[in-house]
Amino acid sequence: MNQRQRERLLQEIQELVPQALLGSLSETYRRCGNRNCRCHAGGPKHGPHLYVSYRGPAGKTTVYYVPEASHAAVRKGVEAWGRVQVCLRQLGIANKEKLIPSKPPARTRKRPS
Ligand SMILES: [Zn+2]
Repeated sequence: MNQRQRERLLQEIQELVPQALLGSLSETYRRCGNRNCRCHAGGPKHGPHLYVSYRGPAGKTTVYYVPEASHAAVRKGVEAWGRVQVCLRQLGIANKEKLIPSKPPARTRKRPS
């Protein structure tokens, strides 16, 4: 990974992190309380109802409901989280080249340009 790729990756991480949301999404479809509704007559159920679940530091799983107005933002946030993981992974691998030079250091070191 060259310096430009590294900077682009860092830039992307910086943009994604503020909106990144930890968790996985699950959707449910339900029948409502109205007996006369289409959902009780074999019609489509209501939904999707969106939930986010994540495992906290102590290993305990937390689940919360997402109001419909926040569906788009939450989906985007979870996607951003996933993308951050991909970027961090690439960076974490590329850092090997930075921390462990592949060639033994020359006697007269060049200053980094
Ligand atoms: Zn209904």
